[in-house]
Amino acid sequence: MARTVLVTGGNRGIGLAIAQAFAKQGDRVAVTHRGESGPPDLFGVRCDITDPAAVDSAFSTVEAELGPVEVLVANAGITDDTLLMRMSDEQFTNVLDTNLTGAFRCAKRAATKMVRARWGRMIFISSVVGLYGSPGQVNYAASKAGLVGVARSITRELGSRNVTANVVAPGFIDTDMTAVLPDDRKEQYRKSIPLGRFASPDEVAGVVTWLAGDSAGYISGAVIPVDGGMGMGH
Ligand code: NDP
Repeated sequence: MARTVLVTGGNRGIGLAIAQAFAKQGDRVAVTHRGESGPPDLFGVRCDITDPAAVDSAFSTVEAELGPVEVLVANAGITDDTLLMRMSDEQFTNVLDTNLTGAFRCAKRAATKMVRARWGRMIFISSVVGLYGSPGQVNYAASKAGLVGVARSITRELGSRNVTANVVAPGFIDTDMTAVLPDDRKEQYRKSIPLGRFASPDEVAGVVTWLAGDSAGYISGAVIPVDGGMGMGH
């Protein structure tokens, strides 16, 4: 059955791969973008998730054009890395505002319609570093760990209404976010991954579409790693 799906930050990287995977299976897909236009062949809504009014308006547009959002993929995220002792309050709160509060804003806006429909899927894109930790990423790791608390609390609040909330925790994926890393650091990370390689965005997308599907209807509050074995055991 075709669903209405909204992917935040679906204009590039992992979000784009997720949006394309849903579109390929016949769902009605909307993506948020901050630039002038979204990707061709996908329904784009302009939205900065740090702005509550923009989030509300993006959902209203999607509802008017494609119907109520049944599957929310909170994917948009940023990094602003530096060591703890150099990190400013602003660097910390900016990353939290996008990665954690932004996801909260979208989940809150999506929840009413999902509860009314007695069906909904929320999928939060976290990171292996949320639970593993990472030097230079106190802000990012905190934001990604926070998503676990968000998803598990939503599970306890809305599970009885057939709304599930899960976390997908990717390891290193080939996108713009990891392209900026220096080669020696990439090589260092590669050595810490049992599978010995970075993944493609499609390998995350496959897990997300599966989680949103009927065969995953009894999974909620889970943290599903897509990290080549990097973080196992946490
Ligand atoms: P990219 O940097 O390639 O893309 C980030 C996306 O988020 C872009 O679409 C960007 O929009 C959007 N975005 C950022 N800030 C905002 C905002 N305030 N409002 C709306 N959209 C915003 O990242 P990836 O595709 O690599 O990452 C996607 C998600 O996966 C992120 O949450 C990231 O933390 C997570 N992740 C990535 C990993 C990786 O190895 N790449 C590993 C683990 C997790 P715009 O184009 O306008 O900038």
